Amino acid sequence: MDANLKPQRLGQLDDITYGKTSNILTRATGFIEAYDYSLNPYSGCAFGCTYCYAAFFSRSPYHRDNWGYWVRVKENAADNLNRKLRRNSRCLDGKRIYMSSVTDPYQPLERKLGLTRAVLEKLQRPRQTLTISRVPNWWFKHAARM
Ligand code: SF4
Repeated sequence: MDANLKPQRLGQLDDITYGKTSNILTRATGFIEAYDYSLNPYSGCAFGCTYCYAAFFSRSPYHRDNWGYWVRVKENAADNLNRKLRRNSRCLDGKRIYMSSVTDPYQPLERKLGLTRAVLEKLQRPRQTLTISRVPNWWFKHAARM
């Protein structure tokens, strides 16, 4: 990800950090156990809905108390997925993926970073099932070009 394209603040978000994940696919458990994996390109969410259960899965009291003001970007999300698929192109065959269980994959930062879009481009395969928790209206224009 180009350092010049990495905003540090956006709207009410005043704590945007960038990092790498070692595994973008998390084994799905609990209320989403009908899926095989959850996929969260971001942690945290700019919308900060007061009823959001994801706030309670935050990794610290700071993150829980400041829900809506911070986001961690998993900047290698698409590369990590790509590496898995290169190692074993059939590893997701028949699998069900839920995107996303603890963030909004189309929160405002996505328009600048295109991280969810990059992940979707890696998943342009008919062999897995992908459920997206929310898609904005502009997504349909993008999908038509894919
Ligand atoms: S993840 Fe969904 S419910 Fe939670 S703050 Fe974001 S938009 Fe709201």
